[in-house]
Amino acid sequence: MQKQDIRAMTEPQLRAHLDELGLPGYRFKQIVKWLNAGVSDFSQMTDLPLALRQQLSERFFIPGVRIARKWESKLDETVKYLFELQDGETVESVLMSYKHGWSQCLSTQVGCKMGCTFCATGMGGFIRNLTAAEMIAQIEAAEKDRGIRVSSVVLMGMGEPLDNYDEVLRFLHMLKEDGGVHIGMRHVSLSTCGLVDQIYRLMDEKLQLTLSVSLHAPNDQIRSPMMPVNRKWPVDTLLEACRRYAETTGRRISYEYAMVNGVNDSDACAYELAGKLKGTLCHVNLIPLNPVDGSGKRASCLKRIQSFQNILTKSGITATVRRTLGADINASCGQLRRKADREKSNG
Ligand code: SAH
Ligand code: SF4
Repeated sequence: MQKQDIRAMTEPQLRAHLDELGLPGYRFKQIVKWLNAGVSDFSQMTDLPLALRQQLSERFFIPGVRIARKWESKLDETVKYLFELQDGETVESVLMSYKHGWSQCLSTQVGCKMGCTFCATGMGGFIRNLTAAEMIAQIEAAEKDRGIRVSSVVLMGMGEPLDNYDEVLRFLHMLKEDGGVHIGMRHVSLSTCGLVDQIYRLMDEKLQLTLSVSLHAPNDQIRSPMMPVNRKWPVDTLLEACRRYAETTGRRISYEYAMVNGVNDSDACAYELAGKLKGTLCHVNLIPLNPVDGSGKRASCLKRIQSFQNILTKSGITATVRRTLGADINASCGQLRRKADREKSNG
């Protein structure tokens, strides 16, 4: 008999299967609780009798992820993974070591619809959403591989998390469950390119996570050519949503700003940005652009980045330059997957 995907089943279907096995109703509740906690294997359902765990694993499987490729940094403890999903699609994830513990960057979609011109994922187009279970499975696979516990997660891998809102929310709730990976909301960052309607929706959930907004430019003239999403939700509309979000949740917004040589890195841009963020609960993260093949864009030089940072700081805006981990296995989101695809097509 072919094993069935237990997560793909509706509740009545699962109930019917368990009835067939002659199991009492409370077993259904126990199993659903474990599935909601994101376990990847029936052996982790520790309050079920061993024989039952065995029986379940003969009939069903819990879809997970497999490490298709792995790059380990020689400079620090960073590991980049290419995970293969049940249907053969692949996504990237990066595990980083910080003083406070292990942090993992997760993917939320295979590809992305948003088409940002500096992003390798954006260039590859969109394939499909990940399920909440596939997001949890990325954490479990890394934990198992390294024998560690991940203590914080950032949704900054492939995909736009707010374009996969329902599964991302399910994932956030699964994170907290006892018996699962058990990561509190204060240790989660969610990064968005600025889907304003979804930012308001998220605001109403009043979660204690950190919202990161990929701003990358202080005005529409510069932002629209970089990020097509800006044509729908321009800078000022986005910043208004962010201001409301920060006020309502009491959590400061973290703005991502990729420094692109000659595009968005002038002193004038820094002054304009400072003017727009002044008086709001915020932090700016300056990131030297990670050059993507074929884009023709380069990172700003360090002197330029420092000048930009100084202007922000002097205007009362806290700004940091992101430390690059795993510089020797350097590849921003989407680049590893593209590389693996190219290698595959080259035989
Ligand atoms: N879709 C979400 C989250 C995934 S992208 C978002 O856009 O926010 C994660 C971060 O990487 C974003 O801040 C994105 O703008 C940034 N990024 C993408 N390509 C990059 C590159 N080539 N160099 C530097 N940052 C990049
Ligand atoms: Fe998608 Fe984010 Fe890349 Fe833009 S930067 S294409 S939103 S993954």
